[in-house]
This record gives sequence, C-alpha cells and structure tokens, in this order.
Amino acid sequence: MTRILALDIAGNPFRWLEIEQAISYAACGKVAWEIGADELVFRGGICRATGERSRVALRPVIALARSEAMARHMPHALPPGHDNTLLFRRDRGICAYCGEQVDTKHLTRDHIVPRARGGKDVWSNVVTACRHCNMKKACRTPDEARMPLLYVPYAPCRFEHFILTGRRILADQMAYLAARLPTHSRVM
Ligand SMILES: [Zn+2]
Repeated sequence: MTRILALDIAGNPFRWLEIEQAISYAACGKVAWEIGADELVFRGGICRATGERSRVALRPVIALARSEAMARHMPHALPPGHDNTLLFRRDRGICAYCGEQVDTKHLTRDHIVPRARGGKDVWSNVVTACRHCNMKKACRTPDEARMPLLYVPYAPCRFEHFILTGRRILADQMAYLAARLPTHSRVM
C-alpha cells in the first residue's frame, strides 16, 4: 500500500502516513506545501448537491502546516529495538565479521561489547552477524576474538530511518530522502 511521506514545516520527515490520514490532512487544509512530479488522485464521497464524486489529489511528499512541534520527535534517537529488520537493512544483510551476504534467516544481532559484559543495545553497539560468526565470537569483544569489524556501526539519521522503515517507497519520496543522506550512509 502506498504511503505519503509527511514532513514538518522545515522539511524534516516525521511520519509515513496512510492514504486516509493524508487525505484528512488535505481536507482540513493542513498541507502547507508538497513535492513530487506524480500526483496521486483519490476518489472520495459523492456530493449530495451536485451528485459528483469528490476528488483529492496529493503529491507523494507533503509538508504539514503548524507542525513545528512534530520535529522534536526524533525517530532515529530510538534504540534499535527488538526487531532486527532495521538493523539488517542498515547493514545490507552483510555479516560485519566475515563480509558474507547471507539470507535473513541466518542473520543475527551481535552486540560488539557483549550484553553480559555491560554492552548496551544501542545502534553503535550492534551489528549484523551470520550465525556462524556470532557463535564463534561468543561472549568476547572483537579484539579478544581477533575478529575485527569490517564496517562501523552507526545510528541511522532521520532520513535513513525513513528509508529503512518505508515500504514501497515512491520515486519522488526516495529522491527527497536520498538527497539528504550523510556520506557514510549504507542504506542506498
Ligand atoms: Zn559471518
């Protein structure tokens, strides 16, 4: 299902909106500006007076008026959580120790400094590892295990977060987000 990328008034993405939510924002006149070459047209209810079906046109990226407060919610500041999907997508499904790209079902979350030794479950302490490497490393640091990291973990920025959490991202939405990625980003 297509979703609309909602920005705050300053252009920071803050939420993927379901179509119904986006339409209701548009109906209330809350869309300050919009971006995108392709217009998405949706049909609404039939007007009793005219008998005509209403029509709502939206661009794939919309900025909401009076949304200053929304920018304060920083999704990328959230911990990686218990769902490994974002972590595997951040690391492109590549094991941080052997460099193999393996099927998702053979991937695991590795804590660089093991949790049993005080390592935290934060973006900068977790990497994608294949089962084999994770078992081999066991409860050791990469130094102790002589398994150097092939890439450096990082917390996704706001723009990366929206690419990682998007499903069926439209070309206009991807262009907006991709143009704002930091140079170290691996999500593209
Ligand atoms: Zn591996």
